[in-house]
Amino acid sequence: MTAYTAKRLPRQTGPAGWNSILPPQTPLPQLDRNLSADITIVGGGFAGLTAARRLHQLDPTLKIALLEAGRFADGSAGRNSGFMIDLPHDLASDNYAGDGLETDRATIALNRRAIGFATEVAQDCDLPQEMFDPCGKFNAAATRAGDRHNQEFAAHLERLGEPCTLYDRQQMQEITGSPHYTSGLFAPGTVMIQPAGYVRALSSHLASQVSLFENSPVTSFEKQGVGWLVKTPDAQVATEKVILANNGHLESFGFYERRLMHICLYASITERLTPEQIKTLGGHPRWSVTPADPMGTSVRRVSGSYGDRILIRTCSTFHPTIETSPMRLRNAGWVHDRKFRERFPHLPDVKMEHRWAGMLCLSRNGSAAFGELDTGVYSACCQNGLGIARGTLQGMGVAELVAQGGSDIADHFLAQPMPPRLPPEPFASLGANSYLIWKEWRSGKE
Ligand SMILES: Cc1cc2nc3c(=O)[nH]c(=O)nc-3n(C[C@H](O)[C@H](O)[C@H](O)COP(=O)(O)OP(=O)(O)OC[C@H]3O[C@@H](n4cnc5c(N)ncnc54)[C@H](O)[C@@H]3O)c2cc1C
Repeated sequence: MTAYTAKRLPRQTGPAGWNSILPPQTPLPQLDRNLSADITIVGGGFAGLTAARRLHQLDPTLKIALLEAGRFADGSAGRNSGFMIDLPHDLASDNYAGDGLETDRATIALNRRAIGFATEVAQDCDLPQEMFDPCGKFNAAATRAGDRHNQEFAAHLERLGEPCTLYDRQQMQEITGSPHYTSGLFAPGTVMIQPAGYVRALSSHLASQVSLFENSPVTSFEKQGVGWLVKTPDAQVATEKVILANNGHLESFGFYERRLMHICLYASITERLTPEQIKTLGGHPRWSVTPADPMGTSVRRVSGSYGDRILIRTCSTFHPTIETSPMRLRNAGWVHDRKFRERFPHLPDVKMEHRWAGMLCLSRNGSAAFGELDTGVYSACCQNGLGIARGTLQGMGVAELVAQGGSDIADHFLAQPMPPRLPPEPFASLGANSYLIWKEWRSGKE
């Protein structure tokens, strides 16, 4: 009998800060009775929730069950920095430029389809602008090398016919209130989301259309007749088809073994700034910067019902175990405090309220882990760092593959080559962590 058992389940380190700063979360049920479904989705991040919504759009008669191991918005979908980016965002490059003009044009068009989908979600859920803001973002530089990266990326965008504007030091200070940045490249197409707000809203909205369960980790699934029996600790779902939308934990079920890279990122968010601190800071109430060097520090200033706050996101580590440790989070926190002081020396008293870690999944060649893995078992995983846009896109693509046999989005992912194997341990961890430390050191003040 064919059976797939989870070797490990997700374990989070630190609270999902974006979720913690929102009002208490309305619970969704835990799976505690046996069910039957046409399609069962494993994982309630961007890919899983999007797949559920798209399947329901394509065929409202489908019985869909979605099982999330933790609480909605407590996984990486509620732990990221909230940049839903339309442009190429190659983290392995020096300046984000992708593989070439035609490939980049195709990538941009697809990312914008995902943004279009999310925009409809925001409209249906009445998300306020503080949760879903099509305001664009800056690539901010703090060194000459960073200025050069911005200029190179601006030239690349110009060749693509994409609008962008270069800002100088003074303009960046007027916007951010920080004297740190020497230049900025503004691109208007990014949507900034409050990630936990978006995931909460989408899951609550879907709950009337789809059977959603949280705190319901899938421990195994096995072949049963022409379908599958999906098991959680308390109950099981008899289903015709399974969609694995559990990102790096796809490997925990034995798929793509030693082909996925599990990278942990770390973030801290301040307490609410006081009116005096807001005045001292200056600048605009909301802005977002990714670093000109992809391995640098992302910073966001937010403002809204959950307070005026600043987010710092930097440091990354490689973990084949798909989890990090409280000690690593503590070490990252020290770096966050230093990066905050460098950028905001005029705010010496501001403290961080929440610090957290979260996993993302990359492949060495940038390919997704997408397609049919066994009869009736599909995956929409490995978002290569751009999970808000790509996770949404994979969710759309897998739903179209399952419900209508394919689509141009599905074809895009199906055409990608297999992610190559990683070197054996301990060489993969040693190599990857040394590379990350070197790249972070090289990014310097960025
Ligand atoms: C600090 C940080 C900052 C980031 N910033 C950005 C950013 O600004 N922009 C961007 O695009 N991306 C960003 N990312 C990456 C992004 O968050 C991820 O790529 C994205 O969440 C992937 O979406 P997903 O739906 O594929 O997977 P996930 O969001 O990880 O969702 C998968 C879900 O599956 C669940 N699961 C796993 N195993 C099981 C199981 N056995 N049973 C049931 N459920 C299971 C997990 O609990 C999880 O909720 C960031 C990540 C981190 C950690």
